[in-house]
Amino acid sequence: MVLNNKYKHMREFFTEIRKEREKIKENKRDKHGRYRVNKADYETILIHNIPYFFTCDEADKLKYFKNHSIVIKEGIILEVKPKEELDPNDFDLVYDAGKRGGTVITPGFINAHAHPPMYLLRSSMDLDEGDNIDETLDKLPKWESKMTEEDLALSTVGDLTEQQKFGVTTTFSHYNCFDPIEAAAKLTNQNVINGISVASHVSPENSPALIEKLLKGKNNSHSKLAMAVHYLYKASPEVLEKVRELIKKHDLLFTCHMSESERVVEETLKNHKMREVEVLEHYGLLNKNTILSHAIHLRDEEIARVTKAEVGIVHLPTSNRIHKSGVFPYWKYHDMGGFKNIALGTDSVVSKSRLDILTEAYRARTTHLYIKTIKFGSLFKMMTINAAKILNMPKHGKILPGYKADLVFWKLKDRGFVPFDRNNPFTLIGNIITHSGRVARDVMIGGHFVIRSRKHLLVNESRLLDILQEKHMCMREKIKTDQD
Ligand SMILES: [Zn+2]
Repeated sequence: MVLNNKYKHMREFFTEIRKEREKIKENKRDKHGRYRVNKADYETILIHNIPYFFTCDEADKLKYFKNHSIVIKEGIILEVKPKEELDPNDFDLVYDAGKRGGTVITPGFINAHAHPPMYLLRSSMDLDEGDNIDETLDKLPKWESKMTEEDLALSTVGDLTEQQKFGVTTTFSHYNCFDPIEAAAKLTNQNVINGISVASHVSPENSPALIEKLLKGKNNSHSKLAMAVHYLYKASPEVLEKVRELIKKHDLLFTCHMSESERVVEETLKNHKMREVEVLEHYGLLNKNTILSHAIHLRDEEIARVTKAEVGIVHLPTSNRIHKSGVFPYWKYHDMGGFKNIALGTDSVVSKSRLDILTEAYRARTTHLYIKTIKFGSLFKMMTINAAKILNMPKHGKILPGYKADLVFWKLKDRGFVPFDRNNPFTLIGNIITHSGRVARDVMIGGHFVIRSRKHLLVNESRLLDILQEKHMCMREKIKTDQD
């Protein structure tokens, strides 16, 4: 996408935060010697000598591979073989995953619900340290109204790069504008589903017609267009009818916050004279194209209907705790056969301590263990294959031939892993979730390293933080001026 004049300053910022790229190209061999470039413009990549990597197999069973290697070409995994069967000299770029204590590799994690343009609001929750969280939340639209499109784009760069550092390579963004998120997705190479609100108080011009306009002009976009409404009670019957039509015509995904609180349930009853599940059913939206975030206050028979229809569900235990939303009935969904459709999400920086999915998995485990413990393998699936399924990304979330090369490299000799049981390498998965919080060593998206040796290759992080700090203070100034 070409950045238009609106983004004049942002273009300069983008150029500044991109500067590092050139330097890195010149310095292809890193100083610890894990990378070896045999051919300058490399096409084939060998991730060699991996002590352990984890993936679900074709039958969705969690497996570990010991001392294997992965071959990648044109962003796709070509082969997975025991290391002895592959000769490093046959490949253009070789990453030796066995060096310096070794590396554990996982598929890139998938964050199924986020609001990346809100990154500049970090620390806005510190405004009130009192008891009334609703009062604090009510202030957020005021903050957001002060953000320019440029702020939103830079905010999204901040958010997506933080997710990448923690091993997230795919994000379902739910917001009210397309271009700033598209620009940030392209800059960071993150896989992004760009869910745009079709009914928004902040942007009244948002409508299903806007989606049709976007569909015409964005064939080559980096992010994938989807539709969203903040809450069903905010969307009119006409809008929901149109959403159904657009899904039918273009096979788009649709998402909304669902039954996040009792208040939302009541508002829906007031506006639509139906409960939320009935609204979805009435407008033909109770199906695989729909992804519901939170989905807390549902009756048992409603959970059964949602599960039967294979609607995607995003569980956000930290957000639910912070906002006192209630407890997601995980085991009810699970026991009714809905597990495969449950993924995890971060929400925005206002609703989560840090933008990673590993601590969210751990929060899910500790939240629901009063009933029964969620197994580590199930949490792993929620971060990978379940999310890929509900987001309709069938070639993501596994390390198998034919899948997209979205890989995260974690240092093995790390307190997040060691000590573990060598006779049962699955203990590494238990450890990465329980003792998570480590930054990924390297991150690859679609066969391209975006983080190498903990350094972002596409964004000058130091410059980015300077810019975000400036922008954040500008926003505070604007709010202060309003209040004076
Ligand atoms: Zn949300």
